[in-house]
Amino acid sequence: MGAFPFFSSNMVQITLPDGSLREFPGPVTVAEVAASIGAGLAKAALAGKVDGKVVDTSFSINSNAQLAIITAKDADGLEVVRHSTAHLLAYAVKDLYPDAQVTIGPVIKNGFYYDFSYSRPFTLEDLAAIEKRMTELANKDEPVVRRVLPRDEAVAYFKSLGEHYKAEIIGSIPSNEDVSLYKEGAFEDLCRGPHVPSTGKLKHFKLMKVAGAYWRGDSKNEMLQRIYGTAWTSKEELQNYLTQLEEAEKRDHRKLGRELDLFHIDEHAPGLVFWHPKGWSVWQKVEQYMRAVYQDNGYQEVKGPQIIDKSLWEKTGHWDKYRDNMFTTESEKRDYALKPMNCPGHILIFKQGMKSYRDLPLRYGEFGQCHRNEPTGGLHGIMRVRGFTQDDGHIFCTEDQILAESVNFTTLLQKVYKDFGFTDIIYKVATRPAQRIGSDEIWDKAEHALMESLRASNCDFEIAPGDGAFYGPKIEYTLKDAIGRQWQCGTIQVDFSMAERLDAEYVGEDGNRHRPVMLHRAIVGSMERFIGILIEQHAGALPVWLAPTQVVVCNITDSQADYCREIAQKMQKLAGNQGLRVDLDLRNEKITYKIREHSLQKPPYILVAGDKEKAAGTVAVRARGNKDLGVMSVDAFIELIQSDVHSKV
Ligand code: ZN
Repeated sequence: MGAFPFFSSNMVQITLPDGSLREFPGPVTVAEVAASIGAGLAKAALAGKVDGKVVDTSFSINSNAQLAIITAKDADGLEVVRHSTAHLLAYAVKDLYPDAQVTIGPVIKNGFYYDFSYSRPFTLEDLAAIEKRMTELANKDEPVVRRVLPRDEAVAYFKSLGEHYKAEIIGSIPSNEDVSLYKEGAFEDLCRGPHVPSTGKLKHFKLMKVAGAYWRGDSKNEMLQRIYGTAWTSKEELQNYLTQLEEAEKRDHRKLGRELDLFHIDEHAPGLVFWHPKGWSVWQKVEQYMRAVYQDNGYQEVKGPQIIDKSLWEKTGHWDKYRDNMFTTESEKRDYALKPMNCPGHILIFKQGMKSYRDLPLRYGEFGQCHRNEPTGGLHGIMRVRGFTQDDGHIFCTEDQILAESVNFTTLLQKVYKDFGFTDIIYKVATRPAQRIGSDEIWDKAEHALMESLRASNCDFEIAPGDGAFYGPKIEYTLKDAIGRQWQCGTIQVDFSMAERLDAEYVGEDGNRHRPVMLHRAIVGSMERFIGILIEQHAGALPVWLAPTQVVVCNITDSQADYCREIAQKMQKLAGNQGLRVDLDLRNEKITYKIREHSLQKPPYILVAGDKEKAAGTVAVRARGNKDLGVMSVDAFIELIQSDVHSKV
């Protein structure tokens, strides 16, 4: 203030994101500030952010404030566009079906929905007509206007329009409150806003589907018609999203799991996986690979029990905070829970026998099966389940060892992901939250160690301030898949708490007892989910080293049946544990039919032998994707496929 001795009380100072100041003689709207900066910005403005709060461009700023003009480039801008598009949808529905009543229309991930009360379900033809009308209404570029009414006036207003659901919603707001309404053209809706300044800003949207939804989510109430839509701020983003959806649908692991006969989920065990022989073969390959990772990197594999007395879960805090998510059972008047995590088990193993600083770092690894009672609505194929197996490791170490352990872990994780075909990884470090245990000194050390471990591996990383657990900071490792989706799989978490809770200790160099630091770490995370991700990443065409069937051998006529059996056996029984997974098809069917049928199962190779191949000791080789690799000797083929397995392609 000292710099402005003649500061007038009416004067409004606006601080822009670059730190520059603009002065206005009196109250000023967001739109006016944008116009004072430039005509381009005035046109692009979708909303404003005043002292951190998103508002309409018509919002009047009456005193000094920080302001950011929100355009299509901002995440907040996208949110506003989606919200306004939900209103546009309701506008179009009311325009086409005046008898429909509006209810609510929130923004959701990638778009929005709006629930309507109507005498019949909307059809796909209706959706097309509604979408067309939305475009027409948007093209009229009508202004979006806000007004504020006392609650009771708003209730009366919506009742007079015959909008009984709206009236009921507003009726449940405290009677002394005012409510804001937004008008897009002829359609007015209750809304907190903010919204785009005019409907012309809404250009890139599509209606996706219609579904039933109960009024207020209660199955005793009337069934409403929910229309889902997606909206974006550019044509390219909309197109990319639609393409990604189409790709994701083709790759859906539930669909491929069925078509490739990998697994099923049964109504007798919701959220739990029944692995079929082929799916279990994939599982085994992943597990064997991860087991070698343990062995080659100084881990000792252990196994804890599935069911543990509640007294342990009381000590860990789970019984208190997490009980609803635990499956429990009782026997001989004792309560037990199926373990929701493996860590306490590893501590109980650690506590057997006095440990010395010479034993540290001590690394335990387990394929730990956990059960968590997730709500039915959250379950999704094998990606979100109630029973899952983690590649769960715990490293017991000193504070000084956190850095070296984290460096090694990040390096290891990168190699594992690369071997599974993922090279694009996002790194995030979650730092100390307000509520935490442990001294600042130890947090400094741990956060530094995690960040340093990423720097040492040349990784760019984001920091999520305050997102760490109360017991320590962590790194989250997120994979990007072939169609750009992100999956958080790996983690390393520093834990200053659990050793204390379960009273684990070691004898230090000074002869005194100390608490070890515990590092929780997983690379693939849940085996079930990771295999689901692998199936979708590769669209079911798993790399040769993981494919449940690597080779199918087909004869043309009966006279090559013995030859085919011989080849298959030779490949299955290769020395040095190199045996291949081979299927034999000796059916008396046309070879074109057999090839077409097997191709649907996506094996990496199909071999065909006729009389000519039999006489020459060769096979005709077809690679996945209908690629004809010509005729080669059986040994040449074995060399080829072994090189694939070795290089993990
Ligand atoms: Zn753990």
